[in-house]
Amino acid sequence: MKSLLFLLIPAIFVAVNGREIRQIVKEALEGLAGNWQSLTDDFTDDRKIRQIMLRNRQYDIPGGRETGKDTGFVCDSWRFAVETNNLREWKKVPDKCQEYVGVYMTGDRYESDSEIVSGEAENFARNISILGDGKDVWVFDIDETLLSNLPYYAENGFGSKDFNEDSFNEWVVKAEAPALPYSLKLYNELKKLGFRVILLTGREESQRTVTAENLIAAGYDSWERLILRGAKDSGKPAVVYKSEKRMEIEGEGYRIHGNSGDQWSDLLGFAIGNRSFKLPNPMYYIS
Ligand SMILES: [Mg+2]
Repeated sequence: MKSLLFLLIPAIFVAVNGREIRQIVKEALEGLAGNWQSLTDDFTDDRKIRQIMLRNRQYDIPGGRETGKDTGFVCDSWRFAVETNNLREWKKVPDKCQEYVGVYMTGDRYESDSEIVSGEAENFARNISILGDGKDVWVFDIDETLLSNLPYYAENGFGSKDFNEDSFNEWVVKAEAPALPYSLKLYNELKKLGFRVILLTGREESQRTVTAENLIAAGYDSWERLILRGAKDSGKPAVVYKSEKRMEIEGEGYRIHGNSGDQWSDLLGFAIGNRSFKLPNPMYYIS
């Protein structure tokens, strides 16, 4: 609208000096179209992209932060790409986002994001007709889905350092990982609704006892089955291993209504169930 006024005011002024308004406006619009074309000729040019962004801001939408000046802004975008699975096979949190991820994971936002996911899962579950034959199931991943390893990651750079399997396993055998509170709430609600719960984790079979101890200590109980990686699963990508296990579950007549996990490899592949629920995790990536 502002642009139009800027066009009309000089047009009126010139018109009284003997030129037609229509011609002035036509020439001005052609000029704008030309400028736009020059801006869009080369999208690989950062300066031009910046010009287009500034031009778009003429719409006066309130709020927003300045890009390029704020690490939080860039890390917000990085985390969005992670959660939407646009960014894959990343090895660790970028150095410049370590503090951002730490603030996110230890603050209200992580809890709030988790609450939304588990709340929607619960809403979905409430509308499912349970047949009562013990075959209606919900599949849960464990790490960063039911149990939080945040105490470990807080001591190890929130995912900004190379993963150290030995040191992580030392943490696992302590069996001290707390529950994600909204996952525990969902877990208990599902049982009340009549679902059976199947736990499917990338942890090794050798960690069965400590894993069960940790789950019980964190408040989880009465699961139908706890599936860990056995010798035959060694070396398989998580997405393959988990798909195969879900296929076996379905082969036994179970109906997988929901599947909760913090990695896309928990949720993609085959035998994926009726609906997936992705919990947030910007600390590590498992393919
Ligand atoms: Mg997990």
